[in-house]
Amino acid sequence: MGYALKIMNRLYTPEKPLTFSGSGAMIKLADLMVRSGARRPLLVTDSFMLKAGMLDKLQVFLKEEGCEVTIYEGIVPNPTFAVVQEGVDAIRNGNCDAVFAVGGGSAIDAAKVMAAASTSKKPLEKLAGILKVDQPLLPFYVVATTSGTGSEVTTVAVVSDTETHKKTFFVDPKYVPIAAAFDTDLLVSLPPAMTAGTGMDALTHAIESYTSLARTPETERDAATAIRLLVEFLPVAYAKPQDVRAREMVALGSFLAGNAFTRTSLGYVHAISHQISAHYNTAHGLANAVLLPRVLRFNKQVCADRFAALEFMLQGNSTSQETHELAQAFIDRVDTLSAVVGIPAHLEDLQQADFDAIAADALKEARTSYAVPKRMRKEDINTILLSVQSGQPL
Ligand code: NAD
Repeated sequence: MGYALKIMNRLYTPEKPLTFSGSGAMIKLADLMVRSGARRPLLVTDSFMLKAGMLDKLQVFLKEEGCEVTIYEGIVPNPTFAVVQEGVDAIRNGNCDAVFAVGGGSAIDAAKVMAAASTSKKPLEKLAGILKVDQPLLPFYVVATTSGTGSEVTTVAVVSDTETHKKTFFVDPKYVPIAAAFDTDLLVSLPPAMTAGTGMDALTHAIESYTSLARTPETERDAATAIRLLVEFLPVAYAKPQDVRAREMVALGSFLAGNAFTRTSLGYVHAISHQISAHYNTAHGLANAVLLPRVLRFNKQVCADRFAALEFMLQGNSTSQETHELAQAFIDRVDTLSAVVGIPAHLEDLQQADFDAIAADALKEARTSYAVPKRMRKEDINTILLSVQSGQPL
């Protein structure tokens, strides 16, 4: 793990946000924001969710409470610096006194940096990196609508640079919101393909945290619980989008996975997928989902005990199988889950001409940020990229 990140995680134990879940959770969160004194919130979302009426009840509530609301609806998947700057301008023009994000990781991450940049004395670019936030954020609240990134509990925000094809990380304990909501009224509308991709993103967080060399008993517990919830409820949420119990359990699984990985950091699935998304704008969850089984196979030898412990738990702690059999059963389980929720075998956008650049940036990301159980070489990443492009299993 990068030195600065290690120091940050030693010095600060990030607080978990307060959480509300179930039907109407968004309004409970808005009520808390208003009772805490906000009068001119900025709502951060995308035009799809706004037009689909997903914020209607929120707007009615805030109006009844006498709030003067500014709406920023320019969020795009893998948000850019330009998007964040527009939000900061909206905060300044509307004299906003709080930021309330409604959306997936893209809306939440962009809103984190908007809330930081609007109070900072530094220009936006100078907030990139670790522990760069110089002022308290504007009071910041989150309604997480995708159940994948865990951004509602992490110390991280990711912003894409369209010129360099790189994702820029903003890491600081101050990015954890005051409170977060998982509102099943909104979660049920996530389409099956996005439910699958974002749910597999959450599963990746949990597995990469569970196998991280920086794990602690607390992160191990949260990651294992997340895996249990996601393995059981993701197929249900995918097949029955209106099943509110499954939606809530997947959201809580994603939250726990986020709480675990924000303390341990991640691994090669993320190191590679970030570069793929930056090059081809591939949805983050989908890129992770396609990479996950391939990286599990790469780690199979060194992580046999870890995978076996997870499989033992999932089988109800009652099997006499050997470690290597259990480890293989766990990998097979992830393969089956991917297939059940319709994850494709390959990503056709990948171009071989980009492989060297992707591999170099992935190696750098892993070296500087992650406590991985086994180091990859450039050839290992190229082999994985070829397999992802062609669909040939590794
Ligand atoms: P997203 O936020 O990009 O959303 C994807 C799409 O889903 C959007 O078009 C949105 O309109 C739609 N959507 C969201 N909720 C919906 C709902 N309930 N019903 C219908 N449609 C809905 O997707 P994401 O996977 O949540 O976020 C990806 C971003 O998060 C990437 O930029 C990634 O780098 C970042 N990320 C951040 C962290 C972190 O800790 N901060 C961790 C992982 C990923």
